[in-house]
Amino acid sequence: MLVTGGAGYIGTHTCIALIEAGHTVVVADNLCNSKRESIEKFKKIMNTHIPFYEIDVSNRKAVETIFENHQLDGVIHFAGLKAVGESVEKPSLYYENNVVSTLVLVNCCLKFGVNRFVFSSSATVYGDNKVPFVETMDLLPTTNPYGETKAICERILTDIAKANPSFSVSLLRYFNPIGAHESGLIGEAPNGIPNNLMPYITQVAKGMRDYLSIFGNDYPTIDGTGVRDYIHVMDLAEGHVAAIHAMLQGVHIYNLGTGQGTSVLQLVKAFEEANGVTIRYEIVERRPGDLACCYADVEKARQELGWIAKRDVVTMCKDAWRFEKNTLHQGV
Ligand code: NAD
Ligand code: UDP
Repeated sequence: MLVTGGAGYIGTHTCIALIEAGHTVVVADNLCNSKRESIEKFKKIMNTHIPFYEIDVSNRKAVETIFENHQLDGVIHFAGLKAVGESVEKPSLYYENNVVSTLVLVNCCLKFGVNRFVFSSSATVYGDNKVPFVETMDLLPTTNPYGETKAICERILTDIAKANPSFSVSLLRYFNPIGAHESGLIGEAPNGIPNNLMPYITQVAKGMRDYLSIFGNDYPTIDGTGVRDYIHVMDLAEGHVAAIHAMLQGVHIYNLGTGQGTSVLQLVKAFEEANGVTIRYEIVERRPGDLACCYADVEKARQELGWIAKRDVVTMCKDAWRFEKNTLHQGV
C-alpha cells in the first residue's frame, strides 16, 4: 500500500493500523508539514522498516518510480495542505498541491493497474448542511479554497471511477481527529501557533500559551460554543483499514466520525478532568467561516465497513496530553 503524506499526523497513525492488520506499507512525503523523525519514531513503535520516499507527489516522474519499484495493491492519499486560513491567502498553492497530486496519483494507478484508491476528504464538503451530515446530502459550497480542493478531488475521482469500471475509490470524510497513539511517541505537533482546538489546549496546559481564545459563545448550541465531532486519530486510522478491506468497485463515500457532538467548553472541561490540569480561557469574537455545529451520521460506515469509533473523549484528552508532554516544539 502506498501511503502519501505518511509522515503526517493521520498518515503515521494509519501506517501503524495498516501494519498491525498485516499490510505492507510504502510512504511518500515531501516533509513540508512533518519531519523525518516521525518515520524514525514510527519504526521504534512497530519495530519494522518502512520504505520512505521524500518526494512531492505532484511530481509524476518521482511517483512513477515508486510504482515501478513496488508491487502496490492500493494508494491511500493523505498528502495535502490543510491550513484553512493559509488557503484563503494562497489559493493557487492549495489548488496546485492538492488537486495536481491527486491527478498524478490516480493516473499512475490507471497506468500501473493499481485499482484501489482511498482519498482523505473532509466534513467541510458538507458546508452549512443540517446536522447530522449524511453521505447522501448534496454538497454545499465551503467557505475557503482548502474545502474546495476536497470537493473538486471528490468530483475528479468520481468521474475517473465511472470511466474505469475496475477502479475502486473510497472517499473518506473525516470529522475532527484529535488524540495520539498510546505510546505518546507520535501525535499532532503543528508548527507555530496552532489553528486547531486540541493542540491549542495542550499548549496552554503545558504553559506555552497563556490562555485559550474561545471563538464565540453565542452559537445556537448547548452552551453557545461551537460543536464538533471529535474522533480519536487511532479510530480514524482503523477506519482506513476497514475501508480497504471492504473496498468495492465504483465510488463509495463514508463519514469517519463518532456521531457525537462536543462543544468547545465541554472539551476543555473533559481535558481538565482527564488530566488534572486547568485550562485558562477567554471568550473572543467568532472566527470567520466557522459553523455552529458539525457532526456525522455514522450508520453507513457501521453497516458497510463494520467499523465504529471505540475511544471516548476522555481517552482522546489523555492521549493528546501524553504526547504533548513528550514533545519539544520548534519555532514557537
Ligand atoms: P498533515 O499535514 O499532518 O499530513 C499531511 C502530510 O502530507 C504532511 O506530512 C506533508 O508533509 C505531506 N504533504 C503535503 N503536500 C505534499 C505533497 N505535494 N507531496 C508529498 N507530501 C505532501 O495533515 P493530516 O492532519 O495528517 O491530514 C492528512 C489528510 O487528511 C490531508 O489531506 C488533510 O486535508 C485531510 N484532513 C485532515 C483533517 C484534520 O483535521 N487533520 C480533517 C479532514 C481532512
Ligand atoms: N476553536 C476555538 N479556539 C481555538 C481553536 C478552535 O474556540 O483556538 C473552536 C472553533 O471555533 C470550533 C472548534 O473549536 O468551534 C474546533 O475548531 P478546529 O479549528 O479544531 O476545527 P474545525 O473548525 O476545522 O472543525
